[in-house]
Amino acid sequence: MTPARATSALNIILLGPPGAGKGTQARRLVEDRGMVQLSTGDMLRAARASGSPVGRRVAEVMDRGDLVTDEIVIDLIRERLSGDRPGGGVIFDGFPRTLPQADALEALLRELGLRLDVAVELRVDDEALVDRVSGRVTCAACGEVYHDRTRPVPDGGRCVVCGGTNFVRRADDNADSLRTRLFAYYKQTSPLIGYYHAKGLLRPVDGMAAVDDVAQAVATVLDESRTALAAERRETA
Ligand code: ADP
Ligand code: AMP
Repeated sequence: MTPARATSALNIILLGPPGAGKGTQARRLVEDRGMVQLSTGDMLRAARASGSPVGRRVAEVMDRGDLVTDEIVIDLIRERLSGDRPGGGVIFDGFPRTLPQADALEALLRELGLRLDVAVELRVDDEALVDRVSGRVTCAACGEVYHDRTRPVPDGGRCVVCGGTNFVRRADDNADSLRTRLFAYYKQTSPLIGYYHAKGLLRPVDGMAAVDDVAQAVATVLDESRTALAAERRETA
């Protein structure tokens, strides 16, 4: 799968701490704009569920809340970027998380004649993250994200998207693991904020707002980027 080069297609990163709302917003963009979500967390959980050698290697690290090695996630992304070519652009969700991963992504996209258009940073207070992560529930069938308090599973226990009735909590959504994941975020991932700022690609969004308002702010950022990209293409034509 390769990111699209169509005029309107944007390839974007959703950057933010665990529980910031990256997956929630990515699913909106998939639905509203036909983009493709590439979540390394989802890929790693799928590898675990399948019992593959990679899945077995990463299980303990993930449960603890540490990052798995750059090599493993870069390989997963490389594999996914070398298949079909969808029309709507790609959302990198939870990748890159380290500077070597960011460099590898840039190199991979360059090899494919593509580029990264925007890095959207979802800004959320640490206290809110604890609440979000500890209340997170996910539909086992389609991955729709719910929250015990702010977006409970509807009465009748059926997923609003796929009608599934099996809901799961993540093994790493506990206080100990969240502490480690937050530490990893500030130590290893937050330098990417400066990295993308320096490249002129960083667009901060208030992730403390309600889901719909965050979605609106992200949509505005993407529309502005698309307009700027179109103008740039006209200039170089
Ligand atoms: P991430 O992918 O960044 O780890 P998720 O999208 O899974 O985060 O969201 C974590 C939890 O927070 C979920 O339970 C989700 O329903 C909830 N959530 C996401 N965005 C918001 C928001 N803007 N306001 C309140 N809760 C939110
Ligand atoms: P997420 O679903 O994005 O919250 O990721 C869950 C876990 O998967 C993380 O805590 C890490 O252990 C691992 N993981 C996901 N993406 C990456 C990445 N890009 N680099 C390293 N580890 C990752």
